[in-house]
Amino acid sequence: MTGKLTGKVALITGASRGIGRAAALALAKEGAQVVVTARTKADLDTLVKEVKALKTGAKALAVPADLRKEKDVDKLKAKALATFGQVDILVNNAGVGKAGTIATLTTEDYDWMMDTNMRSTWLCTKAFFPAMVERQDGAVIFIGSVAGLMGIPGEALYNASKFAQMGFAQALDYEAHQHNVRVSMIAPGGVHTHFGFESGWRDPSDAKLKEFLDSEDVADAVVFAATQPPKGRIFMIGMRPMREALTPGAGKK
Ligand code: NAP
Repeated sequence: MTGKLTGKVALITGASRGIGRAAALALAKEGAQVVVTARTKADLDTLVKEVKALKTGAKALAVPADLRKEKDVDKLKAKALATFGQVDILVNNAGVGKAGTIATLTTEDYDWMMDTNMRSTWLCTKAFFPAMVERQDGAVIFIGSVAGLMGIPGEALYNASKFAQMGFAQALDYEAHQHNVRVSMIAPGGVHTHFGFESGWRDPSDAKLKEFLDSEDVADAVVFAATQPPKGRIFMIGMRPMREALTPGAGKK
């Protein structure tokens, strides 16, 4: 702990588990106050206790919300600002995925992935980015994916949602950098989390999951992006497990 983020307020979406949870703990270890949000209140409450137990002085606020819903994001904004006054670092992390072909994927799958991955990103950025521009200080960090960099067989809808985030982040950076607001995209390959279990994309008992990155590896990248010296910004961090090729599937027979 270097206390590099003491005095800063970070809001992390999808913080009930996985990468978001690890990012919240890592940012709090650096001294940031954290607002943690997702739908599962019990998991957020446990995380708040864990942040307090770090004894870094970091306070944590849990705000249960379905981030696909504008009203929930409005309430999230109101509660975060009432408690901490401002949000300095926004981590757009909440996300879901399901694999399949065009024949098997449904319009419900489209809405689920696009709304959770992109609409939540839009709503949260719209809620917190303008004040960063006004203050001439802040950071918006995206947890994108290798699926936001290249089309991957069987991932058309997940690809679409992650490419959408990538284009949004690139365009946002033009609005941000001249106002001293950093935009950073972190694009991991496989990370061993709950991701893909709900949709049946991944099997929790698959031994290959152990070769994936851990949430804490991605959380370290979030802290790195959030702690850059004043004159620079990291726009893109690509991360892969050692066993995964740069192009997923490459080299497989
Ligand atoms: P995870 O363990 O399944 O966590 C996903 C998080 O998103 C949970 O906290 C979940 O909380 C939240 N969430 C889902 N729907 C939501 C909604 N409607 N409103 C608010 N929160 C919602 O998966 P993860 O791997 O940590 O995923 C985090 C991000 O990493 C995603 O954007 C994913 O695309 C990206 N990513 C993951 C991998 C990977 O291999 N795991 C690789 C590259 C990128 P609740 O269910 O409590 O709402």
